[in-house]
Amino acid sequence: MGSGEENPVRALVAAWEAATGVVAEWAEQTAAVTREAFHKLANDPAVRAALESWRITLVWTRQDCDCVCARSHPDDIGICDNRAVIKRRLAVRPGGDVDVALCAPCAVAQGVAEFGNSASG
Ligand SMILES: [Zn+2]
Ligand SMILES: [Zn+2]
Repeated sequence: MGSGEENPVRALVAAWEAATGVVAEWAEQTAAVTREAFHKLANDPAVRAALESWRITLVWTRQDCDCVCARSHPDDIGICDNRAVIKRRLAVRPGGDVDVALCAPCAVAQGVAEFGNSASG
């Protein structure tokens, strides 16, 4: 009770860490603008639940980021570091899931773009 010092980014990282185990490493390296949005999102339990619902798998080998930045997070173009760390499974059509490799900044930015826009409604 009453732990007002909890860092919201840390809290969200902890949620993700349970699923991925690697998030903490890059959370500090994310672009400042995204980190700020991340702070806001991390206070929203619905967002955290949604992030946990992402079907994430880890990328262990070197892969390029598949993110279409201009479409997926148009507010944060240029943050991509092109080193994929996770794959996010997307249902592109019924029965046709595809794994999209994402670098850490893009994964966060996609969450910000998706949940940030819809959470305000
Ligand atoms: Zn991107
Ligand atoms: Zn990227």
